[in-house]
Amino acid sequence: MADRIYLCLAHMSESGAEQKYVKEAFDTNWVVPLGPNVNGFEEDLENFVNQNEQTKVNLDRKVVALSSGTAAVHLALIACGVKPGDEVIVQSFTFCASSHPITYLGATPVFVDSEAETWNMDPELMEEAIRDRIAKTGKKPKAIVPVALYGMPYYIDRIMEIANRYDIPVIEDAAEGFGSKFHGQVLGTFGEYGVLSFNGNKMITTSGGGALICPSPEAKNKVMWLATQAREAYPYYQHEAIGYNYRLSNVCAGIGRGQMTIVNDHIARHREIARMYEEAFAGVKGITYHKELSGMEANYWLSTILLDEDLKVKGEEAAYAEAVKGAVGGAAGVVHGGGTVHTDCEPNRNVEAMRLVLDHEGIESRPLWKPMHKQPVYQQAPAYVNGVSEALFKRGLCLPSGPMVTDADVCRIIETIKDALIG
Ligand SMILES: *Cc1c(COP(=O)(O)O)cnc(C)c1O
Repeated sequence: MADRIYLCLAHMSESGAEQKYVKEAFDTNWVVPLGPNVNGFEEDLENFVNQNEQTKVNLDRKVVALSSGTAAVHLALIACGVKPGDEVIVQSFTFCASSHPITYLGATPVFVDSEAETWNMDPELMEEAIRDRIAKTGKKPKAIVPVALYGMPYYIDRIMEIANRYDIPVIEDAAEGFGSKFHGQVLGTFGEYGVLSFNGNKMITTSGGGALICPSPEAKNKVMWLATQAREAYPYYQHEAIGYNYRLSNVCAGIGRGQMTIVNDHIARHREIARMYEEAFAGVKGITYHKELSGMEANYWLSTILLDEDLKVKGEEAAYAEAVKGAVGGAAGVVHGGGTVHTDCEPNRNVEAMRLVLDHEGIESRPLWKPMHKQPVYQQAPAYVNGVSEALFKRGLCLPSGPMVTDADVCRIIETIKDALIG
């Protein structure tokens, strides 16, 4: 059988630029969480996020390189003044790193459901949540966190209009949406702060890493200070605030600099694969491909499809017969608990059957993110829901994408899916 096809794998440049920068770090003994690669990577990121093809007017956002996207969310919340007892509005349909840092701060996430077009935060429901929280607690939520799910842009114009009206800062979680655009402007540059991730499975990688897009040099300075244990300017270590060890290593930043030489090729490849899926599934009854809307440009980090509830898939009887034994998402050998087959909110039987057919053919696929308001750990958190994310979760599947996926792979994935349909 051909090699296994994964959802999204790291891919280094043909030119070996990553190794050149990493070697430089060793040769010059900058094997620390600061140095020329960190500065160079931040500069590359600033040039990238500040461009606007449409208006040709460049922004002047600043970027801080950090050890992870999760760290970027955490520091953005602190920079927005989130404290114990505060509330933060966050998209429910997301990966847990959007909301977990809210709890690190002793604050409470207030989950808001998605609209059905982009699958991202529903602006009307968001406003309803703001009003209701003010009515119930007498306090405004401290921040709003929309998420560019699978790289699909959110309705940032409507979200910003409402957020500005209530004077609440927006933290864009563009961890999956690096390079996605709304009317030509790069995601992460609309809100007060923008979160990026360079984990091994994202659009580009530093093995592990992230960044925070900041509105000003002063804001960047404060985030850098927080990311380096909040040291005061004295000859000795003087601490007047609590800081974190969140800076990106100069070695990892070298990988990032190399990756920035091919980021546009990566995005182009993800979009090319998206087009292939879109065309292939356009004629398949019962399967809907999730596409970008006009005026929005998705990076298509992962391509996603929905299966109609009444679509018949081979092997449905056997779906959910066995508990999952491996780690979901390949979390480096870490397996915890589980052991049961069902939860009270799970993908439909035909979706699980399709996942098993693909898996058997050596193709990795994955259900959509399970909404946070359905996660046991967030049972107590307030949630404003409309049923959209839960319905999508039950019907959706993520498909392999990225530069490691060949045209032949895409054809095999499409054929495998079509062959798995009954009738
Ligand atoms: C990956 C991801 C993050 C966090 O990134 P890490 O670099 O893995 O910490 C945050 N939010 C979303 C939506 C993500 O998918």
